[in-house]
Amino acid sequence: MIEISNLRKYHSGGKRARLEVDIKFTDINVAAPAETMWFEIDANYDRLLVNDTFDPFLLVPLYLAMTYKTDFRICGNVSKRLYKNLIWYGQKILCDFLPKLSPVKIIVDGFAPTQAQGILIGTGISCGVDSLSTLYDRFINETDPDYKINAMFFFNCGSNGKVEDSITQYIAQSRVERGIALAGELGLPLCPIDTNFQEFFLAEHGDTPLFLAHYSCVLAMQNAIRRYYIGSACNYKGMKNSGTKYKLFDLAEFCEPYFVPLIGTERTELIIDGCQYRRVDKIKNLADWHIAQKYLNVCRVHFVGSNSTGNCSFCDKCLRTLLALEILGKLENFSQVFDLKTYNEKSFEYKAKVVANADNYVFYNELFELAQEYNYPMPKRHDCYILDKNVAILLGE
Ligand SMILES: [Zn+2]
Repeated sequence: MIEISNLRKYHSGGKRARLEVDIKFTDINVAAPAETMWFEIDANYDRLLVNDTFDPFLLVPLYLAMTYKTDFRICGNVSKRLYKNLIWYGQKILCDFLPKLSPVKIIVDGFAPTQAQGILIGTGISCGVDSLSTLYDRFINETDPDYKINAMFFFNCGSNGKVEDSITQYIAQSRVERGIALAGELGLPLCPIDTNFQEFFLAEHGDTPLFLAHYSCVLAMQNAIRRYYIGSACNYKGMKNSGTKYKLFDLAEFCEPYFVPLIGTERTELIIDGCQYRRVDKIKNLADWHIAQKYLNVCRVHFVGSNSTGNCSFCDKCLRTLLALEILGKLENFSQVFDLKTYNEKSFEYKAKVVANADNYVFYNELFELAQEYNYPMPKRHDCYILDKNVAILLGE
């Protein structure tokens, strides 16, 4: 059995506030990687942390219990809505995504208060296309105060890299600094949150627990957050046509639009935003926004050894963004955040790759479609090109 107990909130080290539970693994052949699981924020924000429900500690231990096929016991109260959704629907979706998981019994003492207290309409900020698109639509273009973003959050819960890697904190810190600068320009508060969830993730778990950790951070702020937008990377059409391709490795693209609404509680609503767009449409919407031109950061090259946190302008994520900007005629708008000389050296080979793989990969397909919509010249499928240092004919027509 996996058991969590003793929910408490306290100030640690003077300037930090911590929300913490004890966690124990019993009667299974695995030791708990740590004795406690926690969230930590600046002590000045301590009232934002919820302390009358175990909801923030439900998802990650549940995932571990489903992995180890053992019961999950919570010595305290949780949201009734979240509890029912997880036992009736959520576990089924997770098992469809990862067949090695098994549904398990969730045992709770009772249920938490349901009165909403929060007034914050929040979102995360990574400065990628998805998060900037959500910010643009739900802050710049939104006027209804019930739905207009009024706070931003930065969750350091695993997606910045492995916690034991020395570069992780550097990456997280540079992303926070970029987010703080952006928030400052928009007049929005930004609250960074740390967790120790990474201690519980093994390499064999892949990225799945990272998504659950991210949603859990929102639930930790239930005292403050009424509504929270998660900028989705996938769109409805892509999900319908190829959602099953993401089985086993990308929980968000497999099921986020219907899984995440089940994660909300009576007090806090989680909304998946961005599925109504193709990625190239998000880029089109952002292309003339001065904030995007200054802060857009799509690159993930530092995961393979670089210590740069800017855009490399040659990785696949950079190239797919840059090609969309080129087709839209907006490349020069982004000369502050990309090295356009590097891009120009790579762009032809990348275009050939996009054309060759347009039928196989949704982002290449979108770029191919966008080029057709704009009558933008791309390599022809029946010609020969140098592609990945080999001569290739772009078959397909
Ligand atoms: Zn890059």
